[in-house]
Amino acid sequence: MKCDKCGDCCHIPIIQVSLKEVKTGKVPKWAVKLCSYKLKYVMRRKNGRCIALNDENLCSIYKNRPATCRNFEPGCSGCTQGRTWS
Ligand code: SF4
Ligand code: SF4
Repeated sequence: MKCDKCGDCCHIPIIQVSLKEVKTGKVPKWAVKLCSYKLKYVMRRKNGRCIALNDENLCSIYKNRPATCRNFEPGCSGCTQGRTWS
């Protein structure tokens, strides 16, 4: 299935980022925050969406997006259900 760039998967409340991705600078530090509850990094959010999602519903850090996003397949259950999150 082709991604229609709706951006809804970027509204998921918790998008995990690995410690390695943060420490190596793979994912920019400005875009993440430490989730103290689980001691894990997550993408920062702004206005109910990932802070890296731009006004055109495109990822502004596409080449540096976390593995969580790289592994998200268009057409997967999260994709088809995603539209209920926003
Ligand atoms: S929810 Fe699915 S169709 Fe929409 S941007 Fe994400 S992967 Fe693409
Ligand atoms: S990092 Fe990019 S692909 Fe991942 S949720 Fe944020 S805007 Fe979407």
